[in-house]
Amino acid sequence: MPRRKNQTAPVLGEGGLRRFSGRRIVSFRLTLFRRDSRRVAGSRYERIYPLPPALPTKPEIRYTDAFAAPSLLRVEAVAIMEMEQLVALCKRRGFLFQSSEIYGGLNGFWDYGPLGVELKRNIREAWWRDMVTAHDELAVAPGAPESYEMVGLDTTIILHPHVWKVSGHYDLFHDEMIDCRESKGRYRYDQLLGRWVECEGKRVFVTTDAPGSEAVERIQQRALKLFNLRTKHADRLQWQSDLTPLPEVDDLSVVLGPEATEPGTLTEPREFNLMFETHTGAIRNDNSKTFLRPETAQGIFINFKNVLDSTRVKIPFGIAQIGKSFRNEITPRNFTFRSREFEQMEIEFFCHPSSSAEWYRYWRDRRYRWYVELGLAGDRLQLREHEQDELSHYSCGTADIEYAVPFLPEGQFGELEGVAHRGDFDLRSHMEGKLVRQGDELVVERDAEGNPKYRGSGKDLSYMNQETKERFVPHVIEPSAGADRATLAFLCEAYQEDEVPDEKGKPTKRVYMKFHPRLAPIKAAVFPLVKKDGMPEVAQAIYRALKPHFPVFYDEKGAVGRRYRRQDEIGTPYCITVDGQTISDGTVTLRDRDTLQQWRVDKDACVDEIRRLLNQ
Ligand code: ATP
Repeated sequence: MPRRKNQTAPVLGEGGLRRFSGRRIVSFRLTLFRRDSRRVAGSRYERIYPLPPALPTKPEIRYTDAFAAPSLLRVEAVAIMEMEQLVALCKRRGFLFQSSEIYGGLNGFWDYGPLGVELKRNIREAWWRDMVTAHDELAVAPGAPESYEMVGLDTTIILHPHVWKVSGHYDLFHDEMIDCRESKGRYRYDQLLGRWVECEGKRVFVTTDAPGSEAVERIQQRALKLFNLRTKHADRLQWQSDLTPLPEVDDLSVVLGPEATEPGTLTEPREFNLMFETHTGAIRNDNSKTFLRPETAQGIFINFKNVLDSTRVKIPFGIAQIGKSFRNEITPRNFTFRSREFEQMEIEFFCHPSSSAEWYRYWRDRRYRWYVELGLAGDRLQLREHEQDELSHYSCGTADIEYAVPFLPEGQFGELEGVAHRGDFDLRSHMEGKLVRQGDELVVERDAEGNPKYRGSGKDLSYMNQETKERFVPHVIEPSAGADRATLAFLCEAYQEDEVPDEKGKPTKRVYMKFHPRLAPIKAAVFPLVKKDGMPEVAQAIYRALKPHFPVFYDEKGAVGRRYRRQDEIGTPYCITVDGQTISDGTVTLRDRDTLQQWRVDKDACVDEIRRLLNQ
């Protein structure tokens, strides 16, 4: 295809996408950059191209030689990768490993490697700093009804077992599971998808537990097998529905289980409590039974009075906690997204009932902005307000901050954080006992004899406003985030591919992680161009000057181009290279990971320059 003059957008045509192959491209986004690293003026071209899910070998959408257009330095193609691509990179570069891998792995558990631990720590620290330590208690934050205070807590993983009875987790924290009598498989009832199909007069609902994007293909294969058909006879299958969740099907006798060979082998759904049980103390009986916490929030509620009595905080104020939580998920899946052990970052914010709706809106927007500020700035992040029928019985409003993780079908999002208006449910539960809704009221649940089913602590958790002398039970706004899901989203968003000229000017594929500098595990790498002529000594001195201030990496092995690529792949935002010119004029080359721009700075100014860049 001939190249047009003054081309302002890449032309779709022959030849390009295969350069990004090696992975199955589901969709991609193209942006043109000039040699000066700016996006092509007024003509930024960015669009998501949805492609059919099964596209292993012959991509149908390709772009032309826009890369070679003289005014363009590079074309950035952000391919929405399949999860395996990210999983492979995470393992290869030491972000994440399967737990207990040398023994075959333990499903639903993940270990963070040397880079992963730094990334997750940076996320936790950014959260703690932005929400707690750097919060200005004297000013009114934008969008907040008034100024407020923030403090932290670190409570135990195992709490008094009664906490979970009163909170409702003991009775209600369950998912429905379903078993297959034939394959012995166990599935989450609400996660099985299927399609109605008819063939030879027989109508069957064929199910799969494959994630959405693969579900249609898998169901087709299973239907062909069930009716003993070859692929070329697929047109004999009469599909009578789109993908449908299993709970919408009443008659399980016509359902083909995900690994069964005949319909009718699935059991009726049963409730399965997600709390991990353990025993505390030397004697094992019902009285010694305790639980690994499924959320960190309850540790905060039961310390509400301790915090009030030991500090000078006044309502409105928030208590923050970061810590491990455990849920015995029936089907852990999608990498770390649904794990059995994970970390939460939770705030319980206590306020007067009359302003709680305003505070809910403040926290919902504040928390959404936090992700945007740290780089989840594209259209893969969304804020979704729950419909009335989705709200829990005590909630007056809930919003989810969601991210379109690549393993979900196009257009679907997974929850990173829930922001909930919880009213006075939690504090009242711990005062009075387990609550249930009766009409518009929350009342203590009673047993057959009329006694409270689970008694509360009996302690007074109300709050006295010393100025107005008003006593009230505070309302709670709860922004509850997952550190592992946030880490996963930042990893997915950061993954980028582009083409850059190599030393000989030949376009070569580059994989790089575009982490926000605050989150990047390593902030700068220092290289001597060659291992001689005094360059290593100068580079090591720069490394030592930087090291007390930032995580930095020194590397003198191999070609400098390869060293750059390695740092790009782990998301290091800046590289400093000592070269021939350094020896003559004392300057070094600084290179930006995203724009590939290079400029020179004085070798003694590296600390200030990196600090300036990280803070900008
Ligand atoms: P889901 O509906 O996806 O199971 P949830 O609504 O049960 O999530 P919450 O109880 O609101 O989740 O927990 C708050 C946060 O904790 C979630 O937004 C998520 O980030 C994190 N989280 C919950 N369950 C898991 C899990 N199994 N693995 C990793 N993170 C989790």
